Amino acid sequence: IEARLPSGKTLDTFDFAAVPMVSRARIAALAEGDSWLAKGTNILCFGPPGVGKTHLSSALGHALIDAGYRVLFTRTTDLVQHLQTARQELKLASAIEKLDKYHLLVLDDLSYVQKSQAETSVLFELISARYERRSLFITANQPFGAWDSVFPDPAMTVAAIDRLVHHAIILEMNTDSYRRKSAQARAVTS
Ligand code: ADP
Ligand code: MG
Repeated sequence: IEARLPSGKTLDTFDFAAVPMVSRARIAALAEGDSWLAKGTNILCFGPPGVGKTHLSSALGHALIDAGYRVLFTRTTDLVQHLQTARQELKLASAIEKLDKYHLLVLDDLSYVQKSQAETSVLFELISARYERRSLFITANQPFGAWDSVFPDPAMTVAAIDRLVHHAIILEMNTDSYRRKSAQARAVTS
């Protein structure tokens, strides 16, 4: 699976004023890695489209790479596809093990995964395997209430959420779309 950290989406270009609920100091502390990565703590980032979830996860990824950590950034749908292929080839366990080399795995847009499209129990396998060992940064448009559409059944949804939140930092970005705000600002100044 290819690592594709969006270029240019760094902490330098992230405007913290746009998301008052996410403090620059807190993100700067996370950007050092250390204890949260050592414990396999997860970051769960929720908010509607356009609020900067992808930008922030990518920015933290770039900062951690600069600090010497290994980070893989992927769309969740791509990773599910990758793991499903591995499972069809009876290589799921080793595919998940290979991802162990990454201290942090960014799974962008979890809510775009649909259980009807994919046998998403591979995602559950991944979450279980990394539990208390290796960190995940998950972004989603919807908080947990809507995750029943992602996992194959309610019991698996509960079990996945339980593992993810046991050691987790939750970033709620309930603000206006940055895209829309910048479009409005351009309209006003022109
Ligand atoms: P999301 O993943 O939440 O849908 P994105 O991270 O893709 O949102 O952000 C949408 C666009 O707005 C991107 O071009 C991103 O770089 C920019 N953007 C969003 N939030 C900020 C921010 N706080 N500071 C600077 N740019 C931002
Ligand atoms: Mg996004």
